[in-house]
Amino acid sequence: MNIGIDIGGSHIAIAVVEKSNIILQKEKVYNQDFKMNLFKNLENFMKDTITDILQDYKIEKIGISIAGTIRDNVLLYSPNLGLKNIDFREILEPCFNIPVTVNKDSFCAGRAEKEYGCLKGYDNNSIFLIIGTGIGGIRYLDGNIYRAGYGHMVIEKNGKQCKCGKKGCFETYASIKVLRDKIKEYLNVTDIDGKQLHEYLLLNKQDKEISKILDNYIYNFCIGLTNIIDIDLPEVIGFGGSFSYYDDIFIDKIKETIANNNLLLHKTKMPILKMGELKNDAGIIGATCY
Ligand SMILES: [Zn+2]
Repeated sequence: MNIGIDIGGSHIAIAVVEKSNIILQKEKVYNQDFKMNLFKNLENFMKDTITDILQDYKIEKIGISIAGTIRDNVLLYSPNLGLKNIDFREILEPCFNIPVTVNKDSFCAGRAEKEYGCLKGYDNNSIFLIIGTGIGGIRYLDGNIYRAGYGHMVIEKNGKQCKCGKKGCFETYASIKVLRDKIKEYLNVTDIDGKQLHEYLLLNKQDKEISKILDNYIYNFCIGLTNIIDIDLPEVIGFGGSFSYYDDIFIDKIKETIANNNLLLHKTKMPILKMGELKNDAGIIGATCY
């Protein structure tokens, strides 16, 4: 058995994982106090939780999934968390004497879907896009895994400012955060969580204004998606992150939008589109795949 740790933008989750099964999971949502001293609190939460787990389980390795730039298992920078140059391996390995690996969240989620989920068996040319706060992605080609910067492909000249420094990036038009912000603005509310957003859209997708927001969102999404398809010609594309909960609304709309607006050059090369099967557990499961 392994321990998977998912350090997200708003919460940390620690799980005992056996292959694709989560045996036990503990979570901590960052409240104001926790955020005040985020690094120290994350460290303490990890050490305490791992100590508890080790009383009941024999653990072979610990895998950490985190949003940010990672090199050789060291977190160089995570803009969402405001953390820089952190070596979780150095912090945890001496305490528990268990090997630790650290990988980018999108890399972990993609790996889990490849091993156990929607991309299982597609070894030649497949892509996994993780669509949540931003858009990340990885590509599998001839059995190898490649990191891809799909979220920062420009789809609008002089478009919206992206936090990467460029303007008009795919993720500034097509992340779930963008859709959520549009709906928040329309409903004039300060917050709506992922579950509420999904339920609301499902119930109101026929509403004229909502349908306009959805159509516009999916159109932008399809511009980026068809660029990827026309360049990489994958046999299958999987969608993860919060986006993967929208099977009932998005997949048919994506296919319709691509066909009705003539967005694809290689018309006979439309890949199979699949929603991620592991949903938000993909990161924590994938963290243990390395
Ligand atoms: Zn960007």
